[in-house]
Amino acid sequence: MALIKCFECGKEVSDEAVNCPHCGYNMRKGMRNLEQMNMYQRIYDNIELPTPPKAPSQIGVGIGLCVLLISAIAFLCAFLVPESSGIIIAIISMLVMCVTAVILVSNHMEFKQETKEYKLSLRAPELYKMYIADKEIKDTKFFNGKESSEYIFHYFASFIIPIVGFVLGAMLLSNDDDDIRDKGKNCIWLGVASVALTVILVTVNILHN
Ligand SMILES: [Zn+2]
Repeated sequence: MALIKCFECGKEVSDEAVNCPHCGYNMRKGMRNLEQMNMYQRIYDNIELPTPPKAPSQIGVGIGLCVLLISAIAFLCAFLVPESSGIIIAIISMLVMCVTAVILVSNHMEFKQETKEYKLSLRAPELYKMYIADKEIKDTKFFNGKESSEYIFHYFASFIIPIVGFVLGAMLLSNDDDDIRDKGKNCIWLGVASVALTVILVTVNILHN
């Protein structure tokens, strides 16, 4: 048994005591707070100040915009060609459009965020370190908590639903029966709708953060 100082009144208390015999302070809670403060300090001490962020290359952005334009044209042209190949062109061009848009937007947002953090680190290095330490602790809590498994499930579902829709739709579309072909089309539109919904949610999330 060793004696430690009470976190509240400062008098000596056994390190095995649950509550301080002098003021009743919950020593276990105090220990937990101390551990958390030490962890915060360790993280804070290990943070290095950032280097100036690099803007997304103009060539990269240019290529991205060209891909967006070409896929948008391809999407519109898909309505001019016969139905079966038109649907495939529409799906592919839509997927390309979505992926390109997400990459362009996320690169841009990432650069904006890095610039903001860099400016903060120049103006107030200590505040910057506190900000980053807070973020790291939040991330650790997030990835250890149950939120992350829900997050992974949503992520997984947003990939699986469209893929199942497209594959099932393509299989049904190859059928000779008109009714079954209609069902196939619905499957594909469901897949397209869920991709669109995912992209909207991801974009809103990125813009919101
Ligand atoms: Zn006390």
